[in-house]
Amino acid sequence: MRFYCTPERIRMLGMTNLNREQTLDALRGDRPPDVLVVGGGVTGVGIALDLAARGLRPLVIDRGDWAGATSSSSSRLIHGGLRYLEHFEFSLVRDSCLERALLLQNAAGFVWPEEFHFPVMRGDRVGKAKIMAGLWLYTALATPRALGLPSLRSRTDLEQRIPGIDSARLRGGGSYIDAATDDARLALAVLHTAKREGALALSRVSAVSIEDTQRGPVTLLRDEETGDEFELQTKAVVLAGGPSTDALLSITKFAAGKGPAPNEPWTAPTRGSHIVLPRTRLPTDGAVIFTSAVDGRVMFLIPWPNHTIVGTTDIDDEQANPKAGSKRQRPRATVDEVRYLLESANALVPAARLTDADVISTWAGFRPLLAAPPGKGPSERSREERIERAGNLFTIAGGKLTGYRSAAEKLGHLLTSTMGIGRAGKASPTRNLRLVGALAGPIPRPAWSRLMPGENPVQSLDPLAIAWDSRYAARSAEVRAFCASRPGGTDAIDARTLWGELDWAACNEGARGLLDFLFRRSDVGLGDEGKVRKLIPPLAARMALQLGWTAEQTALQIARATEELDSRHAWRNE
Ligand SMILES: Cc1cc2nc3c(=O)[nH]c(=O)nc-3n(C[C@H](O)[C@H](O)[C@H](O)COP(=O)(O)OP(=O)(O)OC[C@H]3O[C@@H](n4cnc5c(N)ncnc54)[C@H](O)[C@@H]3O)c2cc1C
Repeated sequence: MRFYCTPERIRMLGMTNLNREQTLDALRGDRPPDVLVVGGGVTGVGIALDLAARGLRPLVIDRGDWAGATSSSSSRLIHGGLRYLEHFEFSLVRDSCLERALLLQNAAGFVWPEEFHFPVMRGDRVGKAKIMAGLWLYTALATPRALGLPSLRSRTDLEQRIPGIDSARLRGGGSYIDAATDDARLALAVLHTAKREGALALSRVSAVSIEDTQRGPVTLLRDEETGDEFELQTKAVVLAGGPSTDALLSITKFAAGKGPAPNEPWTAPTRGSHIVLPRTRLPTDGAVIFTSAVDGRVMFLIPWPNHTIVGTTDIDDEQANPKAGSKRQRPRATVDEVRYLLESANALVPAARLTDADVISTWAGFRPLLAAPPGKGPSERSREERIERAGNLFTIAGGKLTGYRSAAEKLGHLLTSTMGIGRAGKASPTRNLRLVGALAGPIPRPAWSRLMPGENPVQSLDPLAIAWDSRYAARSAEVRAFCASRPGGTDAIDARTLWGELDWAACNEGARGLLDFLFRRSDVGLGDEGKVRKLIPPLAARMALQLGWTAEQTALQIARATEELDSRHAWRNE
């Protein structure tokens, strides 16, 4: 059997990332980490990057894959949050617009500008004048880095941009520019940058217990691949568990007199689900933000090169908030959510006549919302983050994908300034730090999201090139050369993915399981269910070669991937 991802081979290929064994060794070496960051979603990897850029040596861990939880289940929008204006959250919108501008600059390719249309329909609770006022306010809050002025759209304009829209109810609307991303790929780019800046990183490692002692925090860690447990002493620990924040707090022993009040949860997660449709069934020119005719909630149609994504829901139920003692289920879309999203999309675009059969896949995530005072509905809870220090432990929760950098900056400033370690400036070096693999400077709105005549209809574009533009951005040529060097590496898994990318993900992007590749390094898993099921065994066999899995481990990976696919399609059997 031949293993492609040996340390020698990684060194030969000039890859600077330490592999898992080398990172574990480094924990016991002469430069151990000074801060442990628990949680490898976008918040945790963002904090690792901030701290590393301030001269510290953080170790970021995740019990699963990087961005394996909420950070790969979002609506993938990098936005100020137009709808937060309704709740007068002006500072959140202003800060998010600034972050959007920084990401378009520093993460170009992984983040791209997108045009959004807001159609106003007869009977909508918000009229045309209010929409336009909102769009102008939104643009004004983004100054001096506005992406362009909003435009008033006639009915005809919108009929062209949203083919099949309910013309009888359409009264016109407005358009504005925001941004979009592939959330998991963005988090991965942040992680790679953190590692380049000196951070250590280990996925499949859990924090089992954390205790703030007089010598500093001591954390019991478990290697989820081997079952080995070991203690790590650091100067500080950051809890960045997203929707699992309260679970993390429950395994944490604070120094006497410190720590959060018992029975006062930090978070009250809600579940949000999306459905994935073929783009040919609901093509739009750019994204659409609209109010659902079912219940008046704001939702989105988001273009993806070969898909249209409809989302999202906001459900506060047992799945999102399990009762004490019950084991939290993995989030998944229910049949009610799927039907609600279909009904809302059909009411906007009746000509599409969408049915269950059009749903290719689904995804769902828990929003790590801060607990709200009693009486407030789930959609009204603040999207801002909460950051606190208790002894040598720092906790962060809430926030949004868009604001991960500024949240990390606030935490980094608090940690360095109050502990007297690292560079403590209020403004983090990350403001001007281009992410590994990002293109130089902002890119234009991608051609694939356009439908308008003369603007590159999507059919004439190469699906692989489109996928790689956002997946690898500036590293595309390097990945192409890598694929060409692998046996069968340039053969296609699907129109958007090559077999060599699986090897690349295992060797160079920290993919340790098949799901990591199917849903976070690529979007192979979002394809036609039958085809994905057939691909699972050969993909697992190839990954086994890269990572040296035994037959038993390979079978386990196949079972996990099958289970995940079952879960994403389970709504059909409800
Ligand atoms: C449906 C939905 C749509 C959204 N849309 C948008 C959007 O369009 N734009 C936007 O800006 N934001 C959006 N968000 C919000 C955004 O996705 C989240 O704010 C962000 O991803 C949260 O990241 P996080 O790192 O805090 O949490 P997570 O990504 O959940 O990461 C927490 C990590 O902690 C790890 N962990 C927990 N306990 C332990 C332990 N004991 N040991 C080790 N690791 C542990 C978990 O495995 C997990 O990976 C959306 C969220 C949802 C759910």
